[in-house]
Amino acid sequence: MLNISNLCASVEDKAILRQLSLEVKPGEIHAIMGPNGAGKSTLGNVLSGRPGYEATSGSVTFKGMNLLDLEPEVRAREGLFLAFQYPVEIPGVSNMELLKAAVDARRAHTGQEELSAIDFMKMAREASKAVDLDPNFLKRGVNEGFSGGEKKRNEIMQMMLMEPSLCILDETDSGLDIDALQVVARGVNAMRAENRSFIVVTHYQRLLDFIVPDYVHVLANGRIVKSGDKSLALELEAKGYSWLENEVA
Ligand code: ADP
Ligand code: MG
Ligand code: MG
Repeated sequence: MLNISNLCASVEDKAILRQLSLEVKPGEIHAIMGPNGAGKSTLGNVLSGRPGYEATSGSVTFKGMNLLDLEPEVRAREGLFLAFQYPVEIPGVSNMELLKAAVDARRAHTGQEELSAIDFMKMAREASKAVDLDPNFLKRGVNEGFSGGEKKRNEIMQMMLMEPSLCILDETDSGLDIDALQVVARGVNAMRAENRSFIVVTHYQRLLDFIVPDYVHVLANGRIVKSGDKSLALELEAKGYSWLENEVA
């Protein structure tokens, strides 16, 4: 699904990712934890092709393609989805219209026929119910005036509708109460499939009780310094990150 090899990346000429390597196979869930400022969001931004985040060396293949050669919109149409740490508000652009345009583009790209407005509406209403979001949110501006929790649930709804191959969730759990957290986890678990993978960035072991990862990685100082299974998350919760300092250095 995804093979990152010795990736170095900079933001505003400042080196952030330093020879980061990670392989994600189809069907796997990888959790990424690590201290603030380690480069976790930068990784998601570089993978999704956000302007300003420049890969300077190394390689990334996504479903056999050279990901770094693809325009951001092509990455999305190919099935890469990034749920933002801070979802943006786009006042005046209807949530529903944005979703329909995105789903249409993805379906056209993958050779599926365009959904009728009625079928799309039905799908969108089902997705909104699955994340406990009132369907009226579909009519509002994208994230306009949504609470923090509503924005995150809206992200998960978008993710469900896009049917991505690779889902990257950047701290989708931060700021969520326990009920919203379970809604997010239920959404992810319902989407788990043999041909779909997840990278879940989180600060809290708690989320991983609900979304059980195959692997847990610690990203520190721009690279992955330790990998393990779910028990690593418990160890981090108990001991923090400082015991990894030697490996970070
Ligand atoms: P994390 O998500 O692990 O907390 P980030 O990837 O957000 O870390 O940030 C890693 C480093 O990159 C930080 O020092 C941060 O200030 C810097 N950085 C990230 N994005 C930008 C940006 N758009 N402009 C300037 N610096 C940035
Ligand atoms: Mg952070
Ligand atoms: Mg971050």
